[in-house]
Amino acid sequence: MPISVKVFPFGLLRSNVYLVFEEETGEALVIDAGGGTQYVLREVRKRDLKPKFILLTHGHFDHTFEVAEFRKVLGIDSYIHEKDLKVHETMWDLGLSAFGIKMPRPEVGRCFDDEPSFELGSHIVKVIHTPGHTPGSVCYFLPDERILFTGDTLFQGSIGRTDLPGGDPTAIRSSLRKLMSLGDETVVYPGHGGKTTIGVERRTNPFISRI
Ligand SMILES: [Zn+2]
Ligand SMILES: [Zn+2]
Repeated sequence: MPISVKVFPFGLLRSNVYLVFEEETGEALVIDAGGGTQYVLREVRKRDLKPKFILLTHGHFDHTFEVAEFRKVLGIDSYIHEKDLKVHETMWDLGLSAFGIKMPRPEVGRCFDDEPSFELGSHIVKVIHTPGHTPGSVCYFLPDERILFTGDTLFQGSIGRTDLPGGDPTAIRSSLRKLMSLGDETVVYPGHGGKTTIGVERRTNPFISRI
């Protein structure tokens, strides 16, 4: 059964929120929660979708800013790799102060410490641990649809920065090699900017040629 992906680029720093759903069953999940809760909710209602969970790619505030609102309006749990709890703790105040915002830090939800799989209708969503941008950065992969959500690890024409606390340039290289092994036809939905494919990035991304 086909999967649809809708993007909402409304987070702080224009981070992408993705609404991913199986058309026949209406089962849905949300990837990242940087903003646009009301837009996503409107889409969920319009299509009569059944959201199951919110999956966070990492703990930076531009991807978690509205995680409490998302959990509340959709009535579902959010999940994050446990290695990014500390990133969330330390970077929330620091990151938001650059925007002149002071807000209590929300709970980011439940944690996993390995690479679990989630179910979306008849599809599997696999967690791939890809440290480097942060220690708990993960990508979410739907193998049968060859769809990959890369957060701030891989972008169209670029890769995630590793100079923030918890960043690791050696780790991101091995994470990117892992992603390159997923096959050229894999469609990549990054945490910022437009979609691409593994094949296009392998051929044209200057950072990938250096890993
Ligand atoms: Zn980030
Ligand atoms: Zn980001």
